[in-house]
This record gives sequence, C-alpha cells and structure tokens, in this order.
Amino acid sequence: MKRLIDKLAEEHDLADEEWRQLIAGEYDRSLLYAKADEVRRRYYGTEVYIRGLIEISSYCKNDCLYCGIRRSNENARRYRLTKEQILECCETGYGLGFRTFVLQGGEDAFFTTDYVAGLVREMKRRYPDCAVTLSLGERERDDYQTWFDAGADRYLLRHETADKAHYEKLHPPQLSWEHRMQCLRDLKDIGYQTGCGFMVESPEQTAEHLIAEMRFLREFQPHMVGIGPFIPHHDTPFYDRRQGSLERTLTMVALIRLTLPQALIPSTTALGTIHPQGRELGLRAGANVVMPNLSPVSVRKQYALYDNKICTGDEAAECIACMTGRVASAGYRVVTGRGDWRNGCS
Ligand code: SAH
Repeated sequence: MKRLIDKLAEEHDLADEEWRQLIAGEYDRSLLYAKADEVRRRYYGTEVYIRGLIEISSYCKNDCLYCGIRRSNENARRYRLTKEQILECCETGYGLGFRTFVLQGGEDAFFTTDYVAGLVREMKRRYPDCAVTLSLGERERDDYQTWFDAGADRYLLRHETADKAHYEKLHPPQLSWEHRMQCLRDLKDIGYQTGCGFMVESPEQTAEHLIAEMRFLREFQPHMVGIGPFIPHHDTPFYDRRQGSLERTLTMVALIRLTLPQALIPSTTALGTIHPQGRELGLRAGANVVMPNLSPVSVRKQYALYDNKICTGDEAAECIACMTGRVASAGYRVVTGRGDWRNGCS
C-alpha cells in the first residue's frame, strides 16, 4: 500500500482500482495520514488558519433531505441576524485575531443580492485587512459577480456528491445537480477562491461515489475542500440513517491532501461532533483550517444542521482559546492572517 500512497503523492491521481484500495482502508492508515501530513507541511508548514464562522440565518427555502434546517422541518426554530448583529460578530472576531469572516446560512430570501452586497462592502470598509467568505447557497452568476465586485474574496458551496443520481437521492426534485455544479464553475470563473465538498458516508454513498469525488476534485481543482461525516438529524427523512465514520472521513481528508497538495482543507465541526478529538485527528490527516463559531451564543443551537453539534454554548473568546489549545496539542499552530490559498511558489 505504501507504493500506492507514494504514487498518489507524486502523481496526484490513480487508476480506479488503486483508488478503490486506498479508500477501502484495509491497511495501516497511519502511513496514509503521515504522508498527507508530510505534504501539508511542505506547503503550509505547521500553520493552521482560522475562519470566524457567522451563521446568519436558519431560514431556508430548500428541502435537502439530510439537513435539519430544511424548509419542511416545522420543529426548527428559525432566526436571522441583523446587519448590526453580524457586524458585532466581526468586531468581536477581529479583536480575537480573526482575519477571515465566513457568512453562512440557509437560502433565505431576506438576504437579497443588494443587501448582501451592502453587508460585504461595509465589512471590507471596516476591516480592509480581512477576507470575506460567503456560503449562502446557489444563486445566479450575476449575483455572485455582484458580491465579488462588492469585495467578497471566497465562496464555499459544497457540491455534496459528484454523482448526479446520488444527488437526486439526497435532494428534492426542485434542486438540480447540474445547477449546483454550474454555480461552482461560475464562482471559480469569476475569480473567487472557491470551495466545494461533500459529506462522507451520506445515505446511499458507495465506494464508487468516493472514487468519483476524487476524480471530480482532480478535474475541478478547487482552492478549498470541506468534508465532514454525515450525521443524522432527528427531524429529517434520514433520521435513522447511519452516521459517517471517523476513519472513513480521515481517509478522505488525507486522500484529498495528496490529490490537491495546496488545498485549504478544514477540519470540520462535524468531525469534532462524532469524536472528541476529531478535529485534531483531521489536522493530523492533512487538514489545515479550523472554523470556530462566531455566531451569537443566543442563536447557536438554532443553526442545527445535524444532531449533537458541538460548540453551541461557548462565547467566541472561549471557542478560539479552546481551538488554539487543540491545534497546539495536535502539533500545529494557529496563525493570525487571511490564510489565502497559496500556489506552489510561495
Ligand atoms: N445553504 C448553504 C450552507 C449549507 S450548510 C449551502 O447550500 O451551501 C453547510 C454544509 O453542511 C452543507 O453543504 C452540508 O454538506 C452540511 N450538512 C448539512 N446537513 C448535514 C448533516 N446532516 N450531516 C453532516 N453535514 C451536513
């Protein structure tokens, strides 16, 4: 297996049968994680970038079958932050050393294109040294262009699965895989640092789907890749489906690092939710970003995409202190700075 791991580290791609073997994980995976760590250190040393995540709305017009804030979940408690609240989160975050703010939310019609553009402009006016990342779902190209022109730097839109038929098992008929993929192409084309990603072991996912994920990433060459285990939410149609495993998620993190050596890869909250040291293990398997929560504590519990989400009770300052300790315990260091994507020269 060592031969395959080395081959992937050098060529960033494999034949289907080779992918299948590495994904299956029936070997000493510490070899894979160690190689991924070696490659991440080559490009990023021991640096870990922090992003302040601000969850701006739990209203959503979509009805994704896996998601706790899906439209038809009548038990979901809904909130939306005001502009003032969002800017307060930034102020707190800036004081704590954050230089990237991520605005994430359900697809909420209240946040019109102009409203978000105004918000981005104000954030960039107040904090010109900060990067603004948006994660507000699918829009049209013109909207994305307007936000980019307003100063947004990055966009996160997980494609959720690279397989159209699988996509249709996870989403209602109103949503289309083609449109989601088109959004990603538009974002990259406009000039955003673009992030895609998928859930590991979402319902009906097979090893063949994971091979397709690796092929898609290789072809699309995103700047960022966010993955985390699928975790069931009790008020969704997938309430009784199995949670994604730690080992499978770590394997995929490592394979992504070897396929896209320069990618920014977060060690996600979902990974921390399924295992007390999940995020530390993610970092050691090749991840180099963490996204502590900057949302007001009063709304944290209401942004419930899945059950048992961690970090819903702590103030931002506690989150960053906890995260800094966790990163150090894994053998890395949190750095203050925008933490932009680097091409190999720097
Ligand atoms: N509405 C935005 C933000 C989505 S929330 C958008 O469409 O991009 C961010 C991510 O959380 C989703 O893309 C999905 O991959 C993940 N997620 C949602 N429900 C989940 C669940 N039950 N388990 C694990 N991850 C989930």
